[in-house]
Amino acid sequence: MVNVDGRLAGERDAVVSVFDHGFLFGEGVYEVMRTYRQRPFLYDPHMRRLRASADRIALSIPTSDAEIRERITATIAAAQLPAEAYIRLLVTRGVGEIGYDPTSCPAPTIVVIVKPHTELAPEAYANGVTIALVSVVRNHPESVNPIIKSNNLLNNALAMQEAYRRGAAEALMKNHRGEIAECAMSNIFVVTHGAVRTPPVSAGLLAGVTRAFVLELAAKTGIRAFEETLRDEDILSAGEMFFTSTTREIVPVVRVDRHVVGTGKPGPVTLRLRAAFAEALRSV
Ligand code: PLP
Repeated sequence: MVNVDGRLAGERDAVVSVFDHGFLFGEGVYEVMRTYRQRPFLYDPHMRRLRASADRIALSIPTSDAEIRERITATIAAAQLPAEAYIRLLVTRGVGEIGYDPTSCPAPTIVVIVKPHTELAPEAYANGVTIALVSVVRNHPESVNPIIKSNNLLNNALAMQEAYRRGAAEALMKNHRGEIAECAMSNIFVVTHGAVRTPPVSAGLLAGVTRAFVLELAAKTGIRAFEETLRDEDILSAGEMFFTSTTREIVPVVRVDRHVVGTGKPGPVTLRLRAAFAEALRSV
C-alpha cells in the first residue's frame, strides 16, 4: 500500500510525475523504518535524520512529524499486512521544470510505501554471513555526503552489484582515504579483545539509527564500544564482526571474501548484543 501526498493508492496505482526532481535528478531523501508489534520503531530518531538529510540538500519539509506519522499509520492499516511492516518514507524536491533551480518546485512530494517486513533467513543469524570488500569507494563527504540518506543511491547500487557478483550478502566499502567506511546497506562493527569498534561519522558514512542504538545497548550491557578509524589490518585481526541496519538488526559476519573472521562462527560479543537487542524489544 502506498500513500502519495496524503492519498492512499494500491501498488499499481501509486504514481509520481516524471517531472519530479526525485525522478529526474535523484533529488530527495528517505528513511526506512520497520514496526515491532505494528508500531514504527525509533520513529523520532528516524524523523530527526530525515529532516537533517533534507536540510543538507536545502529541501524543506512543511509536513509535521505527527502528520507524517498519521499517514504511516493509515497506510499500515490499509495494507492489512500479515506480518510486521517495512516502511519506506521518501521526500523528493517535487515537480518542476527540467533544470536544477529548486525554486521551480513549489512543493515536495511525500511518499510512504508499506509492505510486509521480510526477515533475513534464520541461518544468516545462526551461522553468520559473507561480505565482500568492494572496489567501489564510498562517496567523498564533500561530494554527495554519505551522511545524507539520499534517494540518489547509485554509489550503493554499484557496490552491491559487485557484492552480488561475488555471492556476498553485503558490500563493505572504503572511503577516499582507504579507511573502512560502512557497508552499502548497513554499518560495520569489529570486535577485538572484547571491545566493539565502528568507524566514526567523519569516515564518511550514514549515521545509522541502529548503529546508535547498538552503541547505547553496548554501554548498558557493560561492553566497551567506541568509534575509531578502521583499516585493513583491523578487518584482518578482528575476532568478530557484524553489521547493523533497521531491517536486519545485528548480523554476524564470518567471512570477508576469502578471509575467515575469528573462529568462522558468530562470536560471543555479537551474540550478547543480539540478546540485548531482543531484550530491549520486549519493552517497546
Ligand atoms: N548505511 C547505509 C548506506 C544504509 O543505507 C543504511 C540503511 O539502510 C545503514 C547504514 C543503516 O542505517 P539504519 O540503522 O538507520 O537502518
